[in-house]
Amino acid sequence: MAEGTHADLVQEAEGLLNAARLAGEAWSALSPKTRAARLREAGKALLEEAEDLAGIVHEETGKPIAEALSGDVLGLADVFNYWCTHGPGYLAPRKGRVPSLEFPGKRAVVEREARGVVAVISPWNYPVALPMRVMVPALLAGNGVVLKPSEVTPRTGAWLVERLRAHLGPVVGLMAGDGSAGAALVAAGPDMVHFTGSTTTGHSVAMACAERGIAYDAELGGKDVAIVLDDVDVTRAAAGIAWGIAHNAGQDCASIERVVVHHGVAQTFVPALVKAMEAIASEIPDLTTPLQRSKVLSHITDAIDRGATVRTGGVPEGDAPVPPTLLQDVPRDAMAWADETFGPVAVLEVHDTEEALVAAANDTVFGLGCSVWSKDVARAERLGRQVKTGMLWVNNTAFTGGIADLPWVGRGASGGGVTSSPESLAHMTRPRMVLVDKASASEPWWYPYGETLEGLMRAVIERHRSGGLFATLKTLSALQARTKVVSGRRDDG
Ligand code: NAD
Repeated sequence: MAEGTHADLVQEAEGLLNAARLAGEAWSALSPKTRAARLREAGKALLEEAEDLAGIVHEETGKPIAEALSGDVLGLADVFNYWCTHGPGYLAPRKGRVPSLEFPGKRAVVEREARGVVAVISPWNYPVALPMRVMVPALLAGNGVVLKPSEVTPRTGAWLVERLRAHLGPVVGLMAGDGSAGAALVAAGPDMVHFTGSTTTGHSVAMACAERGIAYDAELGGKDVAIVLDDVDVTRAAAGIAWGIAHNAGQDCASIERVVVHHGVAQTFVPALVKAMEAIASEIPDLTTPLQRSKVLSHITDAIDRGATVRTGGVPEGDAPVPPTLLQDVPRDAMAWADETFGPVAVLEVHDTEEALVAAANDTVFGLGCSVWSKDVARAERLGRQVKTGMLWVNNTAFTGGIADLPWVGRGASGGGVTSSPESLAHMTRPRMVLVDKASASEPWWYPYGETLEGLMRAVIERHRSGGLFATLKTLSALQARTKVVSGRRDDG
C-alpha cells in the first residue's frame, strides 16, 4: 500500500502514469484487432484462475462464494468476450457526411483515438466486475490504465493488475492505497479519470479533475426504487424485490432501497415481501466493513426514532449480521429515505394512484435505476419512463450490470457516467476528424468577398429553405458566378 506525504504519493503516481503512457504508445499503435487478440488471451488466463480469484474476493468482502462467482468473476468472461469480439468494429472510423454540392471534392472520416492513460478508481463492493468493465474497453480502445482499487479490497486489485501485466506489460499499472493515493493519482495528471464510488467522493474528484482539465466519468451512489402495480405477479415480484434489496448485503449501487406499492395490492404484496425477506435472512452475510455496518444501523435507528414501523428485520442483537429490513412510514427527510443506505434495508410506502407512485419514485436526488413490477408490461414501461433514472427494468432489477452490451448509467447525484456498451466508447476515446480535399479550384468562401459571395449564400439558404430543382439550379448558377471571381477570371467589384 502506498504511504507517505502527498508529494511522495504524487511522485509515485507520476511514475506509474509515465510508464503506462510510454507503453501505451506502442499499444495504441497496434490495430484494434491485435489488441483484442492480446486481451482475449489475457482474459482466458484470468478465467483459468477463477476459483482463486473468487476466494480472494470472498475473503476481502465477506460475500458468499456464490456471489463472488456470479457478481464478480462470471462477468469477466462476458466482458472480455464482448469487447474482443465487437470492440474493433465499434472503434472503426466512420465516414463523415460532407454535402457534395457546397463542398465538392472532399472526403472526411471520424476516427476514435485513445485518450492516453485512464485512471480507474474503484470501490470495494464488486472489486473485480467494476474495474474490469472499465479497464477492458479502455485498453481495447488503445489507452493505458492505472487502477486504484479500494483500500478494502487491495489483494483483489493487485491480483488483477499482476495478471494483466503478465500478458500486456506496463500499459497496466497499480496505484495501491486509500483515498490519499486516489487523490495523488488524480493530481499526477492522467488523461482521464473513471471514478466509481460514493457521491461525496465523486464530487471532490470531479472538482480536482476540473481544476486540471482532466476528462472525468462517474458512476456514483443510488437509491433505487421498485414500483409495484396492482396487477403484479405477487410471488415472483416479492422474490425478485427481496433479492434486489438484499443481494451483496445491499451493498450494490443499484440495490432496491425504496419500495412503493399500489394500495390495490398492498395487503397481499407486503406480507409476501416480508415473508420472502425473512426466508433469505440466513443467507445474508454482514456488511463488509465496520464503518458500513454503523452507517446502516444509524439509518435504521434514525427511522425508528422518527416513527417508522419495522415490518421485518431491524437492529440485530449483538454482532449478528444486519438482517433484510423493511421500514414503513419513514419521513422523507430521514436518512433511510433521503440518503444512500448501502445495506439490506428498504423503506416502504403505499399509494393510491399511479401519479403518486411516480411522484414518490422521483422524490430523490439520485437517478440510477427503477424497476416496475406488473403483468401489464406496456403499462409498466409507460410508468417507468416517467421516473428520472438512467436505467429502467420491467419485472426485474439490477442484473444488467453484468451484460457488457447494455449501458450502466445514472443521472443526478448518481453521476452522469456511462459504463459498458458501445456508448461508453465515446467517453474512453477522443474523436479525431480528418478531412481530405482533392478539389483543385479555390473555395467560394475564400477572399475576395463581395456580391457574388453574398448571392451564393442567399441561394444556398433559399435551397435549404424551399428545396426543389429551381433552387438547386439557382445555387449552381450562383456558384458558377462566384467560382469565376475566386479563380480570378472576373473582378467582383
Ligand atoms: P468511496 O467513494 O469511499 O471510495 C471509492 C474509491 O475512491 C476508493 O478506491 C477510495 O480509496 C477512493 N477515494 C477516496 N477518496 C478519494 C479522493 N479524494 N480522491 C480520489 N480517490 C478517492 O466509495 P466506497 O465506499 O468504496 O464504495 C461505495 C460507493 O460506491 C457507494 O456509494 C456505491 O453506490 C458506489 N458505487 C456506485 C456504482 C455505480 O455504478 N453507480 C457501483 C458501485 C458502487
